[in-house]
Amino acid sequence: MSTNQKTKTIRTRFAPSPTGYLHLGGARTALYSWAFARHHSGQFILRVEDTDVERSTPQAVQAIMDGMHWLNLDYDEGPFFQMQRMDRYRAMIAKLLEQGDAYLCYCTQDELNQMREKQRENGQRIRYDGTWRPEPGKVLPSPPAGVKPVVRFKNPLSGVVSWDDLVKGPIAINNEELDDLIIARQDGTPTYNFCVVVDDWEMKITHVIRGDDHINNTPRQINILKALGGEQPQYGHIPMILGPDGEKLSKRHGAVSVIQYHEEGFLPEAMINYLARLGWSHGDDELFTREQLVGWFDGSNLSRSAAQFDPEKLKWVNAHYMKQHPKDQLLDDLKERLGKAGIEHANGPALADVLDVVLERASTLVQLRDEAALFYREPLVNADELQTMLNEAGVSAALTDFHGALNGVEWTVEGLNALVKTTIKNHNLKMPKLAMPLRIMLTGITQTPSIDKVMALLGKATVQARIARGLGL
Ligand code: GLU
Repeated sequence: MSTNQKTKTIRTRFAPSPTGYLHLGGARTALYSWAFARHHSGQFILRVEDTDVERSTPQAVQAIMDGMHWLNLDYDEGPFFQMQRMDRYRAMIAKLLEQGDAYLCYCTQDELNQMREKQRENGQRIRYDGTWRPEPGKVLPSPPAGVKPVVRFKNPLSGVVSWDDLVKGPIAINNEELDDLIIARQDGTPTYNFCVVVDDWEMKITHVIRGDDHINNTPRQINILKALGGEQPQYGHIPMILGPDGEKLSKRHGAVSVIQYHEEGFLPEAMINYLARLGWSHGDDELFTREQLVGWFDGSNLSRSAAQFDPEKLKWVNAHYMKQHPKDQLLDDLKERLGKAGIEHANGPALADVLDVVLERASTLVQLRDEAALFYREPLVNADELQTMLNEAGVSAALTDFHGALNGVEWTVEGLNALVKTTIKNHNLKMPKLAMPLRIMLTGITQTPSIDKVMALLGKATVQARIARGLGL
């Protein structure tokens, strides 16, 4: 960071195009920009880049804001909408035209196509050939009648554009590689690269953190900014997120929007922690709070290589946060999810007790709901599956004994655990031989919390009735 920037308030922005949901990549970009601003006690700005009117929708704007709200990425200014800033862009285009840093180009689409064709044939690089670019001593063609011009930026012909990327390190591009970009279309509307420059400049953005799919735009944006007289911000281009299969993360990989992770039972803290690690590290730390992230996120240790999305790790992180989460909030969430699934929990074991037991194993709030639901509905028993288990030597007799002994047992986890152990010992069975059919009879499934805890919660009458039914007693 230059000394100049040390004294300046750090200002970052998240600038999504509202053409879809807030997906994981976007959420991570927002998170990094937010965390960087917060680390430096700076400001974080939300800017909606809605100039693609065909593809932008109010629903997408709402989805982006919902996603940021869920993740608690608060912004200090905005949302600004580019469509409401057209006057600013027009004024800046006029300024560039006036100072000779932009010019009108009357090339028709046909002419541009021919130009490209010829360049292709001659093995030249495809670029605008500068037909309408004014140069000292050059005589320009006279404007053809009936053709509306576009405005092109007069990119410098020589020299180098360079920046020290926060993520990728020093980058330098020869101006010869860049041609004269269209900054206003025939209908006068400004183009994406131009709006970004005007906004970043006028919104006093000091650090542009964005996906590396924008890296080719950066030298062009820097040149335009220089022509406008703006100061170059620092750029950080973060590599994309890959799916578990190594391909670019997409809808194919499941969740499309961060809000979907809420529906799937992930906590925002877990999402923040997981996303932060997807392209950044702090030593070997895998689990850290939002406050720690802000404390550490100074722009260093950003990864240069693409990160791979790992759903199992996300679940592991989520399980951690679920165990840390305030019990009453988990309980509220559980009630809501059970309610939505139409599961009545009033006539069963206390939900708070059930929560204690299922929380040990669950890694999402949905899993929590599904396991809790086992205590509030009649099990759907697969009779064939159960019969196969009961047919194994000694199992039926052991379960009949077990059932008989339930009357006299002390109805606690410990009491039930002792009875299970005595029964398998007496019948010379391994634990699963007894526990599996018990699980099926009591819950309908084989993956449950430990069977003594399940029985303790279900209560004596229910347990006795279900085992009797399972054994056909
Ligand atoms: N609106 C652009 C996008 O959603 C981001 C532009 C930027 O960050 O500079 O990809």
